[in-house]
Amino acid sequence: MASAVRASSSDGLFHRIGAFLAEQGLSPEPPHYAFAYAVLSEPNGTLAREVAEITGGGFRLRRDDLERLGCQIGAAAASAPARAVEPPPAFQRQAEELVAQTQAQVDGFADIVREMKDETHGFGRDLAVSAAQIVDSGPAGGGNLSRLATEMLARVHDSEQRLARATDETDALRAKLAEARDAARRDPLTGLPNRLALAEGFSARPGAGPHCLALCDIDRFKRINDQHGHGVGDRVLGMIGKTLAEAFEGHLVCRYGGEEFAVLLNGVTLAKAAEMLDGARATTSARRLRNRDTDAPIGEITFSAGVVALRTGETAEEAMDRADRLLYTAKAQGRDRVCAG
Ligand code: GH3
Ligand code: MG
Ligand code: MG
Repeated sequence: MASAVRASSSDGLFHRIGAFLAEQGLSPEPPHYAFAYAVLSEPNGTLAREVAEITGGGFRLRRDDLERLGCQIGAAAASAPARAVEPPPAFQRQAEELVAQTQAQVDGFADIVREMKDETHGFGRDLAVSAAQIVDSGPAGGGNLSRLATEMLARVHDSEQRLARATDETDALRAKLAEARDAARRDPLTGLPNRLALAEGFSARPGAGPHCLALCDIDRFKRINDQHGHGVGDRVLGMIGKTLAEAFEGHLVCRYGGEEFAVLLNGVTLAKAAEMLDGARATTSARRLRNRDTDAPIGEITFSAGVVALRTGETAEEAMDRADRLLYTAKAQGRDRVCAG
């Protein structure tokens, strides 16, 4: 998807390569990394521009696009369905597992280093006491022993410093991994949590209900892309995401995919959830947006939504399926409305 190509330069190239591979359904193999690197390291280059042109609006590169653009397709490359916008869950799970494993390794390493540092510190302190005692014992054993002790102390001091540096580096790595974990749960375009974060939020919701799940879908969004370009479409997605995040502050609002947003509400009845959704819907449809480049009116932007109260023992997929059917009803009844069930 084009968002990976356009991501801000402050994002690490490594993260952007990972996101690009996930978005394009490319397995993590060296030729794919090389291709992603070639695209992302020169965002204004011909290759990046060609890729952005094809992927604008959430399209994936097809196998023939990849071949034409010089990407050597690896054995395990996804068959790249033409229009999918979701990163393949299997790839995302793999990346997640890798991050979790690395995090565990780094945590273990940090603890070991910290223990070693404490031990060395204790050793240095004991040695300092012994050296003082030897010196105090008079000229008999003095000279050599005290020189030896001084040298050893210097070495201990040196290794303490090295260990302190290792600890700092490990802490920095730990922070980077935490950042990567967060990035894996966030949609880069809107900054909202993504589908993975929703699945986790669903599993971790408090036992006491009621809980509701809503699915919102922008109406006739394709038309906005067609009439005003994908850049405007992207900004509209950002605006709707912000409106929903504000309307549902304290609840989990995520970009579910494409032009769809999901909201998980804990401790809210179905009637209240429907009322809140309708408020966000009214706020959205009352806006009159203009294309900031051409000043042309974009017209009314609306969304439709389906919302359900979670049933005991219901899985996220089952609840989402029911919300999706209600969303379909809302679309069939004329759009710009909320259907609750
Ligand atoms: P409906 O009211 O029935 O939902 O109509 P629609 O046009 O919104 O639905 P449709 O599924 O036909 O089109 C969705 C469009 O959303 C097509 C796709 O290009 C666009 N889209 C998906 N993801 C993105 C994105 O990240 N950016 C932009 N600009 N467009 C996107
Ligand atoms: Mg849709
Ligand atoms: Mg739509």
